Amino acid sequence: MIDYHVHTSLCNHATGTMEQYVRAAVDRGLTTICFLDHLTFQEAGRANAMFPREVPMYVYEARRLARQYRDRITVRVGLETDFSPRHAEQCREMVDTFDLDVVGSSVHFLDGENVVSQRSAWASGELAADAVYRKYLAVLESMLDYDYFDVVCHLDLPKKYDQHPSPSVLRGFGDVLEKIRENNLAVELNTSGFHYPVKEAFPSPGLLRRCAQLQIPLVTGSDAHTPESVGRDFDRARDLLKTAGYRHLTGFSHRKQEIVPF
Ligand SMILES: [Zn+2]
Ligand SMILES: [Zn+2]
Repeated sequence: MIDYHVHTSLCNHATGTMEQYVRAAVDRGLTTICFLDHLTFQEAGRANAMFPREVPMYVYEARRLARQYRDRITVRVGLETDFSPRHAEQCREMVDTFDLDVVGSSVHFLDGENVVSQRSAWASGELAADAVYRKYLAVLESMLDYDYFDVVCHLDLPKKYDQHPSPSVLRGFGDVLEKIRENNLAVELNTSGFHYPVKEAFPSPGLLRRCAQLQIPLVTGSDAHTPESVGRDFDRARDLLKTAGYRHLTGFSHRKQEIVPF
């Protein structure tokens, strides 16, 4: 299996050196680990992300580890970029500057507020689910007008605190998936969801089935913030993928998709 979503201590809220993550991946028997540390231009997100000036060192260290561990595991490097319409061009410039294997894009912020933080109004149940999901879907759709990234991370993230929209709003994800297909982007099966109140991977089994029907490339990621979490719940991920109809995964090398068996 391959883990394409791993953070490091550079994003300020994860622990462990990059080498400890690589060692953990080797111990788990993974064939590829890809760092996908967090880059944001949101004021409110700075505390939880890498500074742009740290990116060169981060890429350099990943490439060094790739050479050091090449007999045991493939090491790749990318960024999880935080989408906001205001910063999209800045983001594009940034990711084009570096030799990355993959760029993920995530919607964490709505109107400048981190909807997924434990301290958010959303987490404490103060907001109406339909309104939040509608806003989230609108931002996600506008994200798909850009082409500087390869993977849509944790597609149905607002469900993190086990709050769900009405079926008519939920259907909006179907339109988003059509657009993902048209843009030949990949979707991530992110297993961190098993450890939040929703207790389900992102995206849901229903959306994952739709991804498979549309033949959307699929990549697995743990969203590990500690070395111990690398490759976490990948047995469950494999079962979910088989049930959904996937026969292979998709990895990335220098921004190009590659087929990976599982
Ligand atoms: Zn994220
Ligand atoms: Zn992440």
